[in-house]
Amino acid sequence: MTAPARRIQLQENLNRTRDAIAAACADAGRDPGSVRLIVVTKTFPAADAAALVELGQADLGENRHQEAAPKAAALAELGLEPVWHFVGQLQRNKVPSAVEYADWVHSVDRPKLAAALEHARKMSLRVGNLNVLLQVSLDGDTSRGGAPIAELEPLAEQIAGYHCLDLKGVMAVAPLGWEPAKAFALLRECSEAVRRVDPAATEISAGMSGDFREAVACGATMVRLGRNVLGEREAMA
Ligand SMILES: *Cc1c(COP(=O)(O)O)cnc(C)c1O
Repeated sequence: MTAPARRIQLQENLNRTRDAIAAACADAGRDPGSVRLIVVTKTFPAADAAALVELGQADLGENRHQEAAPKAAALAELGLEPVWHFVGQLQRNKVPSAVEYADWVHSVDRPKLAAALEHARKMSLRVGNLNVLLQVSLDGDTSRGGAPIAELEPLAEQIAGYHCLDLKGVMAVAPLGWEPAKAFALLRECSEAVRRVDPAATEISAGMSGDFREAVACGATMVRLGRNVLGEREAMA
């Protein structure tokens, strides 16, 4: 159960965040309906995630399987089924369980991970394909996740040959120390390269609490916001 005061706070934060996204769209001359808000609930309790769904927030994100799986199960127990977006680095041994709750995986960045997702989704009893985005390492430092830019087209071609994955587009996190506008302009070029392989892969997942305005200006179709809606996180391990 969520305390009434927390629920009111989440409602206010959601309203303020949706207004800010709409304003960023207006500044960019874009339709506010062209940007989907994903609220990243990592480190916050399942009760907060449940309250957000009850407040009408349909898309939630998580970045660690160990936390996402029990949270998704807790919400399902309450009869709440948000669209779950997995946005963090994913180990192959976690893939069979991740495909059971994830509707989207934003962090596909290597051939073996794509193959494991295809296999696991094929084995799963879940109906429908898994939506995937190719995560790009814009600065080539792949330790934080993401494929080098040169590997995007081969990965897109690999996934185009699959039956249980739908390639939807690209995702990135602005590299540390980069101007967000420069990062997201480069991501847009990556999106164009991927769309030359698969014209349906039109989604661009970019923008966090500190830089979503720049991402919207550069064409983001999905923004992933945590702190703006839920508040500051405790220091993470
Ligand atoms: C945590 C996280 C976010 C949200 O970050 P905030 O700064 O809280 O908005 C977005 N994307 C990824 C991949 C994350 O891990």
